[in-house]
Amino acid sequence: MKSKYVTFSKNIFVPVTNVCRNACDYCVYRARSPADAYLVRVDQFLTLVTTKSEATEALFTAGEKPELANPEFVKWLRDATGCSTLVEYTKELCKLAIRHGLLPHCNLGVLNTEELKQLRDVNASMGLMLETTAELSAHKNSPGKVPEARLKMIAEAGKLKIPFTTGLLIGIGENPEDRIQSLEAIKSLHEHYGHIQEVIIQPFVPKQYTAMEKHDQPSFAVFKDVVRVARAILPAEITIQVPPNLTAPRDLIELGASDLGGISEKTIDYINPESPWPSEEELKRVVAPFVLRERLPIYPEFISKGWYSEEIRPLIERYADEDGLRRL
Ligand code: SF4
Repeated sequence: MKSKYVTFSKNIFVPVTNVCRNACDYCVYRARSPADAYLVRVDQFLTLVTTKSEATEALFTAGEKPELANPEFVKWLRDATGCSTLVEYTKELCKLAIRHGLLPHCNLGVLNTEELKQLRDVNASMGLMLETTAELSAHKNSPGKVPEARLKMIAEAGKLKIPFTTGLLIGIGENPEDRIQSLEAIKSLHEHYGHIQEVIIQPFVPKQYTAMEKHDQPSFAVFKDVVRVARAILPAEITIQVPPNLTAPRDLIELGASDLGGISEKTIDYINPESPWPSEEELKRVVAPFVLRERLPIYPEFISKGWYSEEIRPLIERYADEDGLRRL
């Protein structure tokens, strides 16, 4: 483990929209019908970010390219927000988040270079789960899950010097060799661009009413093995993150994981709504005797390298201590 600490962050989880052009076999986030669709309005967002909270991060997620999922979406977006694309609207929300003391981190699915440029200066870091480099049946209705498209975006983010989070989803039909290839691909991108701050190793959890509801969850033995392999393959400066609401982190910390991701005191995990976030006190107990420290959505190495914009500099100076972690 590279750090003497196990880290986590405190966020406000903002699911901007659940309209998505993809239809992954395991997903409960995506709107199944127009009646299920939602778009977080500015007033709803302001209610979230102005309620007292210790969060430093606004985590924005959304379905991928909702404009392609449903032609009505563009009209809906324009009528509700005055914006013509989800990226334009999310950028406005990012600016509002900054104004309310929160560092944005966007994960909006596959974005092109222009879209990344639009969002770069109003984000402390950005993310896209690679999930896997294998072509899987679980993604047969998901054009955005073509591995090349995801690798290309991660590379583009590297060219733009965006501190970046990616990860693997374990147990969706990939085999051990696929996992090694996926980790090698992330390593290779990092060797080119130096921008990967963390790799999330996330277990698939079957959800009711999805095509994979009867699919087995990966065993803890398999999951531990993936963490071990990831630590062996990835450069030491890339942190391995495991989600504390989906797995038992203590053994995984022994194997090289050193981050527990974000917990949100105000909102559920919209991707895994059945799994509540643990409290900070629970996390402290789980990681003992390792010391738990809060971090920002941008990792200390990237604060040291100055990979952030003038827009977010005041917040980084307010929140970061000399180690680049949250000021105590
Ligand atoms: S891309 Fe994400 S939101 Fe869209 S269907 Fe797949 S898992 Fe769900």
